[in-house]
Amino acid sequence: MKAVKIKNITIGNGAKIAIQSMLNVPTTDIASALSQISRLAGAGCDIVRLAVPDNAAAEAMKTIIEKSPLPVVADIHFDYRLALKCIEYGVHKIRINPGNLGGEERAAEVARAAKAAGIPIRIGVNGGSLESGLLEKNGGDLARAMVESARGHIEILNRYGFDDIVLSMKSSDVKTTISAYRLARSEFDYPLHIGVTEAGTTEEGIIKSAIGIGSLLADGIGDTIRVSLTDDPVEEVKAAKLILKALNLYGDCVNVVSCPTCGRTKIDLIPIANAINSAVENIHKKLKIAVMGCVVNGPGEAADADIGIAGGDGCAVLFRKGRIVKKIPEDKIIETILEEIERGQDL
Ligand code: SF4
Repeated sequence: MKAVKIKNITIGNGAKIAIQSMLNVPTTDIASALSQISRLAGAGCDIVRLAVPDNAAAEAMKTIIEKSPLPVVADIHFDYRLALKCIEYGVHKIRINPGNLGGEERAAEVARAAKAAGIPIRIGVNGGSLESGLLEKNGGDLARAMVESARGHIEILNRYGFDDIVLSMKSSDVKTTISAYRLARSEFDYPLHIGVTEAGTTEEGIIKSAIGIGSLLADGIGDTIRVSLTDDPVEEVKAAKLILKALNLYGDCVNVVSCPTCGRTKIDLIPIANAINSAVENIHKKLKIAVMGCVVNGPGEAADADIGIAGGDGCAVLFRKGRIVKKIPEDKIIETILEEIERGQDL
């Protein structure tokens, strides 16, 4: 499979799966945009995308590109001149559909400029805005119609010698998204930016994204991900990290397993598990932590954990690699686990 470079980040051909998000402040509000980018970087985002709807936004991109700690993608619809301007200002990737620019010569100009600048173009096929007639032509099969749309955009860029392409095939319907990406993977060897578009508000959006993105990643499909939520984009990055962690695709991180609690639980386990989860969010060590409600099943159920606790009556036992080490009072559980994580590498 091909790989592309977005500033210092490689996408495709087995590179680490990059997390993307999109700003939700106006691009012309440079201070807010940079502040949001810095929060996203702190949360673990790898690449940021900004909407460039008009000339004022394209002008603002100049400063944003210069000052952003993360690679910047310009999201452009229809107006090829905005793409040319962003390329001139040093943007690291363009998202644009070459078939929607009002003429092939315009697409050729963008392809030439992107090639000269050494930056990739993402073709972003969206199930909700396909070229007219494609759905009917494909017998109402939206996923196939999306692939045909992608093929058309790709062919335009290829005609002008441009091959530095990333492809996305998003639909707001989870099953259509999965089908479209599977078809795209079997036909094209470009890196895939995967996500379920307009996935909704936080809870629903996370579930749709986890199913859509997770199913594809579990099959080895997908090179960069964007969780789309009607929320603060930092929440998108957190959700993306959790999806990658759940599939062991995040690299070194702390994986917390915690039991659902039951009638045997005699400590207040839920806040303990939540506190441990929040505390380890940005710790880059490959460790498995078990937070279990009782000694009857706890150590056994988490036998392969590096560190764990199993609750007793107002206390817990600490275990390492499934073996009980010592007893700790309930109010010392969180700090004890954090101390153990701190020395986790020595275990
Ligand atoms: S570990 Fe113990 S407390 Fe937790 S669900 Fe299992 S049996 Fe219940």
